[in-house]
Amino acid sequence: MTKITPQPGIMDISLYQGGAAHVDGVENVIKLSSNENPLGPSPKAAEAVRNSASEIHRYPSTDHAKLRAAIGEAMGLDPERIICGVGSDEIITFLCQAYAGPGDEVVHTEHGFAMYRISALAAGATPVEVGERDRVTDVDALLAGCTDRTKLVFIANPNNPTGTMIGASEVARLADGLPPQALLVLDGAYAEFVDGFDGGASIVSARDNVVMTRTFSKLYGLGGLRVGWGYGPRDIIDVLNRVRGPFNLSGTALAAAEAAIRDTEYVEHCRAQNARWRTWLAEALAELGVPSDTSCANFILARFASRAEAEACDDYLKSQGLIVRRVAGYNLPNALRITVGNEIACRRVAAAVAAFK
Ligand code: PMP
Repeated sequence: MTKITPQPGIMDISLYQGGAAHVDGVENVIKLSSNENPLGPSPKAAEAVRNSASEIHRYPSTDHAKLRAAIGEAMGLDPERIICGVGSDEIITFLCQAYAGPGDEVVHTEHGFAMYRISALAAGATPVEVGERDRVTDVDALLAGCTDRTKLVFIANPNNPTGTMIGASEVARLADGLPPQALLVLDGAYAEFVDGFDGGASIVSARDNVVMTRTFSKLYGLGGLRVGWGYGPRDIIDVLNRVRGPFNLSGTALAAAEAAIRDTEYVEHCRAQNARWRTWLAEALAELGVPSDTSCANFILARFASRAEAEACDDYLKSQGLIVRRVAGYNLPNALRITVGNEIACRRVAAAVAAFK
């Protein structure tokens, strides 16, 4: 046994279970466990990937100026206040590295995204979990969970895996009620699925204690290329850039993301398809006695009568080639998180749940 030991906190991190895309011995598998875009990326992004092949001997841009300009244009934001990362996971990591260390607390919600805890522990800080109200982010609980050691407060809005979200006035109340040393992080990984929602950008713009993170992995269909970004006060973006490796994003990833965000027609199409089939799937499952909260994202959290029923349904779906996500690790043992697939996928899920019942 080695005498070389990791930093305190590291062994408290559970190994992350990545989503498999196959089931042994089953054909025609559809993966609905990682909230990917069932329609794939914009054809223009795929073309940009092919075109980037001639440049892969070169190191990529270090300042991501072209992608930041494209994001700024698409979202109406100042590119100088944007940072790009290897998925929004990396922005979360940067935030914890730069702002939280031993003795500091990082607050997140009961069913908050796993990376908040992982990154807090990896930075040597202490994650603090606060309760929700019926699977909805509870601002009072978050404020009550803050102390003079709180450095970061993470909420995802819409939240994963619940699919619920809170309104702008609640987010503003949270930002304005935090202790002065605490930074609020608005994780907008699913913001694009909410019509007309800016992910909290206007709340960020008006304050010096709020950062927003976003991703190309969901609506833009580029999960495999790992591109995310953050928007915040200039001084905070400057700090995050200091912990960012100079070549964190590949040239291929940068080119694809730029093409994806410029293809607004395709983005609109994907958003509309998701909304349509999300409603269809939620209603179909509700009719089968499997309710879910109104989802604002690209998945639904299907609730079963018991953990045993949820697990049996998951096993049955798997036998039918449908991979969904168990969320017992998020303290939701009676539920399954199901990504909204395309029409064929949604119809197959509804038929399989009906057969299971
Ligand atoms: N935040 C939330 C709430 C998520 O669900 C995810 C992906 N599952 C991420 C951040 C990270 O996404 P990525 O690193 O692919 O940008």
